[in-house]
Amino acid sequence: MSAVTGKEIWLDGSFVAWADARVHILTHTLHYGLGVFEGIRCYRSSDGRSAVFRLGDHLRRLYDSARINLLQIPFVPGVLEEACLESLRRNDLAEGYLRPLIFVGDGVMGLDPADNRVRAAVIAWSWGKYLGEEGLRRGIRAKVSTFCRHHVNAKMTKGKTCGDYVNSILAKREARLDGYDEAIMLDTQGLVSEASGENIFVVRNGVLRTPSLHTVLDGITRATVCEIARDKGIPVEERAITRDDLYVADEVFLTGTAAEVTPIREVDRRPIGNGERGPITALLQSAFFDAVAGRERKYERWLTYL
Ligand SMILES: *Cc1c(COP(=O)(O)O)cnc(C)c1O
Repeated sequence: MSAVTGKEIWLDGSFVAWADARVHILTHTLHYGLGVFEGIRCYRSSDGRSAVFRLGDHLRRLYDSARINLLQIPFVPGVLEEACLESLRRNDLAEGYLRPLIFVGDGVMGLDPADNRVRAAVIAWSWGKYLGEEGLRRGIRAKVSTFCRHHVNAKMTKGKTCGDYVNSILAKREARLDGYDEAIMLDTQGLVSEASGENIFVVRNGVLRTPSLHTVLDGITRATVCEIARDKGIPVEERAITRDDLYVADEVFLTGTAAEVTPIREVDRRPIGNGERGPITALLQSAFFDAVAGRERKYERWLTYL
């Protein structure tokens, strides 16, 4: 992946030049990982305008993540919303990725950040297909990680907390070093939870299944795909999935803002179904891309036009 770059970054309430968005080495979050973030995409819609997908839902989750971690975001949601939209404009992005980040500034060190300033940034950049164009079309290869997802009472699963991603990075890098594209993580009971940064679905006998929310992030793409599937008459069940449920599935796919809807064609050297993108995955994938591009009236409420 190429280095991220752009023109301006929103930092603590105003825009600064890209190169000037710097922090002190004593920035608390850098040492201990207490911070929260979001990942949001903006798409060019079919009429040529740009629209951010489910911006309100992402910002709601950002504030939830902060609340879980006892962080007080020093801005009201409307300010961050405008910062997101303006970041796209100022960086000339008709399509792109938005990264709001709430972090603890420098001041005291140690595990109680006390009165250190809570800081906020929004960065916008151009981001292509996270798991590749080919991955979206043909499906990717995944392995079950040797690393478990954190116990639900260690990692607060409703939040996107910076430090929790060390667990995801370990799993992702292990998978890549072992020649796979992505890691699927089991929870501490041994049940399938999610991938390193994506929720997971299996299809068997025409029924869509995904793990319930206990050990996984409440993904906005996950919720989107569940709603689209139900609207199309595909039954959706939230329940436990075992490792071998993956092996015998007709289809498996991942969802996430970065990964969108990405088929998995192989898990642990076992081809899934025919070893290619399955028909229900293809249907949901194209419906998802219709929704984000404003091609489906019913889902236009998810779009915030620039
Ligand atoms: C962000 C994330 C997802 C996907 O959530 P979306 O809201 O769909 O982007 C899934 N799992 C983890 C661990 C994540 O961090």
